[in-house]
Amino acid sequence: MKTTPQISIVAPLYNETDSFPHLVRRLNALMDSLDLSIEVVLVDDGSRDNTPLLMRQLALLDPRYHCVFLSRNHGHQLALTAGIASARGSEALFIIDGDLQDPPELLPEFYKEFKEGNDVVYAVRRKRKENAFKKTGYYLFYRLLKSISYVEIPLDSGDFALISRRVADVLIQMPEESRYLRGMRSWVGFNQKGLEYERDERVAGESKYSFKLLFKLAYNGIFNFSEFPIKFMARTGAVAILISLVYFITVVIKKFFFTEVIEGFTALLFVIILFSGVQLLALGIIGEYVLRIFFQSKGRPLFIIKEEIVNRESVRADAV
Ligand code: UDP
Ligand code: MG
Repeated sequence: MKTTPQISIVAPLYNETDSFPHLVRRLNALMDSLDLSIEVVLVDDGSRDNTPLLMRQLALLDPRYHCVFLSRNHGHQLALTAGIASARGSEALFIIDGDLQDPPELLPEFYKEFKEGNDVVYAVRRKRKENAFKKTGYYLFYRLLKSISYVEIPLDSGDFALISRRVADVLIQMPEESRYLRGMRSWVGFNQKGLEYERDERVAGESKYSFKLLFKLAYNGIFNFSEFPIKFMARTGAVAILISLVYFITVVIKKFFFTEVIEGFTALLFVIILFSGVQLLALGIIGEYVLRIFFQSKGRPLFIIKEEIVNRESVRADAV
């Protein structure tokens, strides 16, 4: 494909040997059925299995596949960022997961909405086929984030979306190190539209998102798109001062007007322990922000590309 493709389908892959053949089969069928020039940008996120090998073979054979290999595992959000940065699609980028949980066949539907003037067409999950614990966690998290966030982040939408070239350009320009792409995508603005879909099960293999990683992502959502934690601290402090004032006044009244003996060793202990806890929590929250400033201030590249295969040719790219 010598000319610039209209659309880039971007998918990050981390140890996806088992889903790979399914992915390629469905993408090929999709591309053959559409009258659009499409490239597929596959990003290998430092896989330890055969994924890079399979990707290389494919990209050297089929010029529609544009493969990017990262120097090590960078995590889903950064792998996606690398894919967005490498994509050449002149009209739009269609972002999917490599495990076929986001059906690529929805591309025409998304593209239609894009053609009708939406810069971001994001997918909204109607039903999740995951275990109840994970589902409840997602449900509560999205609602919490919506209530405390300063940008309007749509409920139950993940990274699965079609974004216009200009939105992709803005996302690449955003230098933040801890990335929560679905939030960044909302922040960009323009016309955005949600499309409902049913999220499939993984075609093969296992989820690469451990609970630890999910929490990290949720944390990034909350700390990057809300001022709530820091405001919460100040409010707790204010309430504590108020309570202690009321307590102090009651004690004074009791002592001088009713000459009662002041008791309350247990209460004292309780208050000390409670507020040491609150102070530590507050310090932890400040620490979280300091840590984020620390990482951001290093100004390191977001990801490092080891190799890139475009038009069946291997090119080595410098760090972005
Ligand atoms: N992924 C990645 N790097 C990682 C973890 C995951 O590129 O460190 C890819 C993975 O191969 C998949 C997509 O990101 O294509 C979504 O990951 P996964 O299916 O494990 O997450 P889940 O769908 O369970 O949230
Ligand atoms: Mg998945």
